[in-house]
Amino acid sequence: MSHSPVTWQLDGQVGVITIDNPPVNALSQAVRAGLLAAVEQLEVDADCRAIVIQCAGRTFVAGADVREFGLPPSEPYLPDLLNRIEACSLPVVVAVHGTALGGGFELALAGHYRIAHVGAKLGLPEVTLGVIPGAGGTQRLPRAAGFATALQMATSGRPEPAAALAESGVIDRLFDGDIEQLAAAALAYAEQLVASAAPVRPLSGLAVSSDGSEAATIETTRIALNKRSRGQRAPLAALESVANSLTMSFSDGLAAERELFLACRNSPQSTAMRHAFFAERATAKVAATEGAAPLAVNKVGVIGAGTMGSGIAMCFASAGFEVVLLELSAENLQRGLNTIADRYADAVKKGRITAEQRAANIGRVTGSCDYSDFADVDLVVEAAFESMAVKREIFTKLDEVCKPSAILATNTSYLDVDEIAAVTQRPAQVVGMHFFSPAHVMKLLEVVNAKQTSAESLATAMAVGKKIGKIAVAVGVCYGFVGNRMYSAYGREANRLLLEGATPEQIDSAMTDWGMAMGPLSVADLSGIDIGYKARGERQPAIDDPLYFLPANRLAEAGLLGQKTGSGFYHYGDSGKQPNPQALELIRAAAAEQAVPQRSYSAEQISQRLLAALVNEGCRILDEGIAERASDIDVIWLNGYGFPRHRGGPMCCADEIGLNNVLATVEACAAEPGDRYWAPSPLLSQLAASGATLADYTAG
Ligand code: NAD
Repeated sequence: MSHSPVTWQLDGQVGVITIDNPPVNALSQAVRAGLLAAVEQLEVDADCRAIVIQCAGRTFVAGADVREFGLPPSEPYLPDLLNRIEACSLPVVVAVHGTALGGGFELALAGHYRIAHVGAKLGLPEVTLGVIPGAGGTQRLPRAAGFATALQMATSGRPEPAAALAESGVIDRLFDGDIEQLAAAALAYAEQLVASAAPVRPLSGLAVSSDGSEAATIETTRIALNKRSRGQRAPLAALESVANSLTMSFSDGLAAERELFLACRNSPQSTAMRHAFFAERATAKVAATEGAAPLAVNKVGVIGAGTMGSGIAMCFASAGFEVVLLELSAENLQRGLNTIADRYADAVKKGRITAEQRAANIGRVTGSCDYSDFADVDLVVEAAFESMAVKREIFTKLDEVCKPSAILATNTSYLDVDEIAAVTQRPAQVVGMHFFSPAHVMKLLEVVNAKQTSAESLATAMAVGKKIGKIAVAVGVCYGFVGNRMYSAYGREANRLLLEGATPEQIDSAMTDWGMAMGPLSVADLSGIDIGYKARGERQPAIDDPLYFLPANRLAEAGLLGQKTGSGFYHYGDSGKQPNPQALELIRAAAAEQAVPQRSYSAEQISQRLLAALVNEGCRILDEGIAERASDIDVIWLNGYGFPRHRGGPMCCADEIGLNNVLATVEACAAEPGDRYWAPSPLLSQLAASGATLADYTAG
């Protein structure tokens, strides 16, 4: 048994089974086989009177083995194994520490008694991968936790702390001692069960308790899911499966769960969500950092305490870095520090952090108006005004005051990082760190690899990004990098549709129905129509197409700037967000003036065109080497732009639709008069012609 990740031994009258499959004790085939052998052998051992199942290392079983995703299942199958464990004639105690997720939680539920360390978390996150629990979770959990808790956990995918589950009856014993002592506590628990001749206690033998409120709970959950997880199949399947536990026998419920599981697993949504999962892991592999070790970063300087700088300072402080926050004036600085203090106070109110954590985080941020305070920082993130003159001045100064090893990063949205690097004597240590607003919340970080950025600097920025809890994606230098450059293509096309006769409501609802968190014109109203207007005005070389963002430009010139002026693509008044006749009039006048033919669009045509605009630009970005792989682009859109996870990102969607179909939309748009932006990307044409996919594309 030397190579098995599962070992067992008899400790007195208790058979102790230990899973040791680092890093997270995933339920691989070898683990399943080992568990089966262990239970079967201990059950027939005359000296064994009870069994403990526990895990070595930092966590209990944290889920299925991701390496087995998408492969044909191999025996022993998890549902059969868990049924076998539950059917064991000896009491089975499961000891949980760390996280018990998915199949791990289902394993715990297959035991007869559960003891958990107080810091443990247990959950059924399957819906986040587009599936439902497939090994009895939706049937055993309602029997253990009660219907409402089970429904909430299976449909949301959110784990719960062991303490909360002890209250609802899932955990029989909460162990609040030293985690190293959990094994001894579990053994003692099993010995007590033996001494008191405690019976086996399979959950499958219980009925789900009912207080008559279940039908209402199902209905309110369904309504909430239709809102929160719009368009997603798995949460509704999880709801159906948990609901079955009320009306079906355990074995019928299991069979129905299996069917729902398989239907979800074979759906494009699950493929897309698994793609998203692997895509996020793949971002850490960056060819340009190969062989480079990240430098140590302990102290960070942040320049500018405005919208972005205050959030960026929080990201670092929350992760334990010492931060010096620099502003132009004491007044601006105080405003930024107040924002930080308020946001942390809010986090305490919402129970996200403790009052002590708030105090510690705030204590790590020192305000300053003096560059000499940057002398010993390891990294600077500049988030001052979006102006090349300002950035040049700041980087010249930073180069003088910062120690030679310090890395200098800019949070610019559009400016040329190569040009910023060029004002320093250390261009190899200049990099972009492009956060998204609100910076302390959004997961995405584009790490911009400028022309002279060294592998070490890039690796450091990527590693720091990970440390502050971001999903860091390496990108190259171009106008808007990956995300904003593609967003420009998307916004341009939304504006073009407006000119051709679509209304803001039609465009926005087509996209939100399709799954986007917000429609493009509502986004413009929220962020301010003047922001894009100003950026387009400053863009060099200027874009001389008269139709380019014409509707947005006309609104900006008329002072309709969006929510902040109460009027933009929509009107914002006492009755909330309404259509804005004034905006429509301006748009129709612009179209008439430019002789743009008017037509009507279906929701499907709108979403097709906007998606094609994204994919075409994404292919150009890939072709230019600005992104290393198509899945990096997906990660950026999933985490920075509200792209629906169950569609996997724009490039994943394009593969699903078929590149030839996307190309056909691009070509149809390119054939329209007066828009040169629609030229098909050569890479898209080439891949479509050869029947290849973006997922398989590698540059070179
Ligand atoms: P902001 O106007 O809210 O804040 C900028 C702050 O920088 C101001 O408080 C200003 O006083 C300070 N500042 C300006 N020059 C300075 C200097 N020389 N030294 C010290 N402080 C200085 O702007 P913002 O929205 O936070 O944007 C900052 C940067 O982040 C810009 O480059 C912007 O393009 C980029 N960015 C913004 C967003 C966004 O959504 N707002 C998103 C990503 C990136």
